[in-house]
Amino acid sequence: MSRILITSALPYINGIKHLGNLVGSMLPADVYARFQRQHGREVLFLCATDEHGTPAELAARAAGQTVRDYCKAQHDIQARAGEAFGLSFDHFGRSSNPPNHRLTQHFAAVLEDNGLIEERVDEQIYSVDDQRYLPDRYVEGTCPHCDYEKARGDQCDNCGRLLDPIELKDPYSAISGSKNVEVRQTRHLYLLQSKMQDRIAQWVNSKPNWPHLTKSIAQKWLKEGLRDRSITRDLQWGIPVEREGEKRPGFENKVFYVWFDAPIE
Ligand SMILES: [Zn+2]
Repeated sequence: MSRILITSALPYINGIKHLGNLVGSMLPADVYARFQRQHGREVLFLCATDEHGTPAELAARAAGQTVRDYCKAQHDIQARAGEAFGLSFDHFGRSSNPPNHRLTQHFAAVLEDNGLIEERVDEQIYSVDDQRYLPDRYVEGTCPHCDYEKARGDQCDNCGRLLDPIELKDPYSAISGSKNVEVRQTRHLYLLQSKMQDRIAQWVNSKPNWPHLTKSIAQKWLKEGLRDRSITRDLQWGIPVEREGEKRPGFENKVFYVWFDAPIE
């Protein structure tokens, strides 16, 4: 008997999802799961809330809750909404669950053993008043490409470009609004995507049946050239940078970046 694993995009934890999320990702997966079950195939239909990253921390702060309590409450709301719409998940989990920690740490270890991860010293914005680093959306400022004044550290919502926080002009803390920020050096793990360029291009080209849009987005990224990306952050909420239960020296106060752990989950 065929065994079929079905997942849909993981809904992000903050905010109640709108009907477009339901129609665009969960409902097609649900229909497919029901169809396969009716044909007598063994189906495992999984989904989960995507709970790490700075948007969750900022939303928890705005709600006056710890990020842990906030994510638990929001997960329960989203799980109930899924039930109310009759979605037939076999399991609706949480990206913050311990088995996902072990899975993410395992992927990182395998990548490192294959020479695809290295430690690099990185420049990050540090807020003197908040006494902390400001990764991703913790820092806002003016976009260096289009001069939009409320660009976020990881992306400009006006021109859509991905940003590195240190590229922002006139940066300020999204927590306190303080402009008393400076660039400091911090150590991070980098995923060496540039080394994977040829293998990924080959793999994409071996998929003639992908939808046109999917393929053209992949080709666009490959044409621009895959860049090495930092996969750790100076944050508390997230998956600790550990290997077989041991903290990585120098990474005691860091976690994996949400864009590394979420796709694995
Ligand atoms: Zn911009």
